[in-house]
Amino acid sequence: MAVAARTDLAFQQCIAPACGATFSVDEVLTSCPSCGNLLDVTYDWDRLPAPSSFEVFERKWMRRSDPLALSGVWRFHELLPFAPRESVVTIGEGQTLLSVSDGVGRYVGMNSGQLHLQYEGLNPSGSFKDNGMSAAFSHARMIGATRAACASTGNTSASLAVYCAVTRLMRGIIFIGSGKISYGKLSQALDYGALTIQIAGDFDDAMARVKEVASKTGIYLVNSVNPFRLEGQKTIMYRVLESLGWEVPDWIVVPGGNLGNSSSFGKAFAELRHLGLIDRIPRLAVINAAGANTLHELFHNRGLRWNGGQADLAPVCHYYDELDRENKRADTLASAIEINRPVNLNKCLRALEVCDGVVREVTEQEILDAKAQVGAGGLGCEPASAASVAGARKLVNEGVIGRDDRVVCILTGHQLKDPNATVAYHTTDQNLFNEVLGSRGVSRASFANRAVTVGNRFDDIIQAIDLYS
Ligand SMILES: *Cc1c(COP(=O)(O)O)cnc(C)c1O
Ligand SMILES: [Zn+2]
Repeated sequence: MAVAARTDLAFQQCIAPACGATFSVDEVLTSCPSCGNLLDVTYDWDRLPAPSSFEVFERKWMRRSDPLALSGVWRFHELLPFAPRESVVTIGEGQTLLSVSDGVGRYVGMNSGQLHLQYEGLNPSGSFKDNGMSAAFSHARMIGATRAACASTGNTSASLAVYCAVTRLMRGIIFIGSGKISYGKLSQALDYGALTIQIAGDFDDAMARVKEVASKTGIYLVNSVNPFRLEGQKTIMYRVLESLGWEVPDWIVVPGGNLGNSSSFGKAFAELRHLGLIDRIPRLAVINAAGANTLHELFHNRGLRWNGGQADLAPVCHYYDELDRENKRADTLASAIEINRPVNLNKCLRALEVCDGVVREVTEQEILDAKAQVGAGGLGCEPASAASVAGARKLVNEGVIGRDDRVVCILTGHQLKDPNATVAYHTTDQNLFNEVLGSRGVSRASFANRAVTVGNRFDDIIQAIDLYS
């Protein structure tokens, strides 16, 4: 490997051990120019002033008038030291919350005190994507980019749009497919003034196009193939540890779409262990929606593994050919994970290896019931996020997750992102239920909180209140 030859403390490196090619952080790349594999941001930890204990980060709480100490991403700057301080872009991301939820825990089948929800809906644009966007913007600022683009099922575009609007550093260009984008997310991109390009096709088509446009025009790509974005997303795990008094949980459960989040979690833990800051790595569970289950199919059913970076990719090509032949498109209400060709597949395989991970798929019914339970617990989330809770429940049922394990489910996005699914679940209007949910195989709303209809008469209203409260 060429690593030893580099004199820079942070550089980009091909994740394939057999290649290992390295590139400066000043280059804009979304794949290895020599072998096509994904790239990591790699650090020469031996020569960096890496922290020897977590106290460094706790002390920053006392200096939070400094925007970098306030940011839940840049508080951990020493663990993503690719950007000089003056390039860092922050709009106050990462002020998120880890809480114990016994209500949701009971639903999942856990003993009291063990189920934790990491609520990333509290970010400026309402999803975890802001963690990565602040890192991508910092890199874009280092290299002087003036335009940035992404393909998006919604949240990446909302995040790109808000960072463009607040910082005025770049013009944002958003590629969306036709149809499935929830209004909560689309409204953000439009409101924040991003250029929105709707193409005739689905997310996977939009992703292929935006890569082509970015590589031919030099427009800066902020999808999760951008290795700098994943550096920002590592901090979700740092904040989980911080909230747990730096104790390592037993399980991290996360929905899987393009697999950037799960990949970044694996990298975060591998690096913390390398630095001697933790001595144990939690297990990782990545949860697909059954209607967009490429990872589940390949990892769980067909035995695809990282295999020391020599994954046999024939089954992947074979599977994608199958999808094409049957014209099978990703299809789930959990639109944020409605992706059939996850761009970070290889990195996720590595994360599953590092974290002794498992993959499960959950149905639309399981997702919506889990979402209602999360809502009833007071932390609203969008459907994709609830896949984590539905997946945890499945794994507890199987006995893979123990009832006394300490489990952290990542709630990736805010409840208000997608009100349609929520209203259709709780509605008394059977037509609405059928149209939005019934048509997708959801047969019942087990935890619906239905509105009570009464006449416009005082006595009727009082009677209804007495009856139901
Ligand atoms: C992007 C997104 C996901 C999927 O994350 P990946 O990193 O693409 O796997 C899940 N939930 C929400 C709310 C998202 O916005
Ligand atoms: Zn390579």
